[in-house]
Amino acid sequence: MTQISELTGLNGDTGDATDMATGARSSAAGPVWSDIIEPGNIVLDADQCGAWGRRTFGADKAVSAILRPGSRHEVAAILRTATMHRLPVHPVSRGANWGMGSRAPFEDGSVILDLSGLTVISDYDPMQGLVRVEPGVTFGMLAAYLSERESRYFVPEIGGSPEASVLANALDRGDGAIGDRWASLGDLEVVLADGRTLETGYSATKAYRLKGLHSGAAGPIVEGLFSQSNLGVVVAAWIRLEPMPGNLAVFTSRIDGLDLLPGLISAWREAQFAGAILGRSVTLWNGVKYLARENPRSSYSEDEVRLAETDTWHLSGYLLAEDSTILGLRADRVVQSFNAAGAATSGAIVRTDGVWREGCEGLLGKPSPRNLRTVYWSSDSIPGFEDMDPDADRCGLLWLCLAFPFDGKVLAEFVQCAAAVLRPYGIDLNIGVEATSFRCLLSYVSLSYRRKGEESDTAALDAYRALLAEAERMGLAPYRLANGLAKTTATEPSSLQTYLEEIRAVGDPNGILSKGRAGIG
Ligand SMILES: Cc1cc2nc3c(=O)[nH]c(=O)nc-3n(C[C@H](O)[C@H](O)[C@H](O)COP(=O)(O)OP(=O)(O)OC[C@H]3O[C@@H](n4cnc5c(N)ncnc54)[C@H](O)[C@@H]3O)c2cc1C
Repeated sequence: MTQISELTGLNGDTGDATDMATGARSSAAGPVWSDIIEPGNIVLDADQCGAWGRRTFGADKAVSAILRPGSRHEVAAILRTATMHRLPVHPVSRGANWGMGSRAPFEDGSVILDLSGLTVISDYDPMQGLVRVEPGVTFGMLAAYLSERESRYFVPEIGGSPEASVLANALDRGDGAIGDRWASLGDLEVVLADGRTLETGYSATKAYRLKGLHSGAAGPIVEGLFSQSNLGVVVAAWIRLEPMPGNLAVFTSRIDGLDLLPGLISAWREAQFAGAILGRSVTLWNGVKYLARENPRSSYSEDEVRLAETDTWHLSGYLLAEDSTILGLRADRVVQSFNAAGAATSGAIVRTDGVWREGCEGLLGKPSPRNLRTVYWSSDSIPGFEDMDPDADRCGLLWLCLAFPFDGKVLAEFVQCAAAVLRPYGIDLNIGVEATSFRCLLSYVSLSYRRKGEESDTAALDAYRALLAEAERMGLAPYRLANGLAKTTATEPSSLQTYLEEIRAVGDPNGILSKGRAGIG
């Protein structure tokens, strides 16, 4: 069997030669990419490939080529060819995945399938609030598209980059402001590693009136197989947009003291249970996360940071109602219930009868890079947004995304343990929390560290494993994973993992697609 390194020329002694003008590989064994895509869309330059192999944690990965297909047919041709030649491939929609693996592949020598050129918004239904997007469409692009059309809908923005992909983020089951990003996805068009294309949902049937409306076409719901997996490359999907609320209030709340956290969470849960607060519309941050958005760590005293880890909590959220009177009453009740739990809460109505209060226009559906500042917590300074490149700047960051029951006592116990677990590694506890419903909380712990060579990377990965072990001890588990990191400390594959590997073999017989993602080998 031909080894990958022979095909990619990684060892440098294969006799392969590359025509730099055309990007074509002249090896008899290797694929000739320029037969498939424009030579200008093939990158073999060592510096550029090196930059794509960088991550904000762990060792860099070797990238053998970056291919930029201009159509889904080219995606299929690339994958078919890679399968034939047993070349590992890693898809990247926009690569704004800092702390989750950046743009880097899993396997050294991989070809990057850069989908950022696929930016077509091929359909828009202004009445139903549906858009059909390709993977290169960013949050920024979609927000501008909807704004130009004066849409009644918006796409829930994330705390990450406005340059991130709307489609890739939904596939990764991301968190956005109001609305479930994963649930917004419908009717996928997927290219399998062997080059076959399949459609899911109503788009796979003749029911043209139902396209994208919901994910319940008769039969098994297979879309989930392509979420956080390496089972295919999604080249188009419907996004079900969120209705822009006619009446909207915002509120912020603060508590000082970990002992107050269970009461605050309980008030939040009650408001969700009663329907006063909707899922995904409240965010809870500990003090470190809050401070990190302002300045790097070196600007604060040790005492300030210690207190901010466990004792300072900031909650912010949105309230909606069908009219402004109901909204006012609802806001008053929510503020009172949070204050009764010991919080200092204030709120304001920012939109009434479809009209924004002056100065509040960007509050929903306008992606902002503001939270990217937190990536530089362990750096000496925070660059301007235009100059930010966390991979090149060697920021140290990795996320551990854990699910919790909606129970403040469990969260408070974890917070106390997590701060203690991270302390010996010199990592401050930085945690944010959201709610899917009154049943479940989703957290994101960001492990930020100063990179000083291999040792600091090893220590950060040890800290990740220690925190994961602590979570497992408490009966918790991740809901989302940084690429290449384990979701469990268990070493035996589960029966589900074995089954997923069998499914993978159906469309990816040579195992070329992001091998190892989410433990699917
Ligand atoms: C400070 C900060 C704040 C953040 N806040 C949030 C937040 O609020 N909510 C949130 O959800 N995330 C957040 N993130 C995480 C991250 O920014 C987003 O998840 C972002 O969407 C990832 O970048 P991307 O969309 O360019 O995806 P990519 O990097 O392109 O891809 C992400 C993953 O999906 C796979 N993939 C990409 N495209 C495809 C495809 N077409 N088919 C199959 N697989 C594919 C890739 O292989 C990769 O594993 C934050 C990150 C930072 C640094």
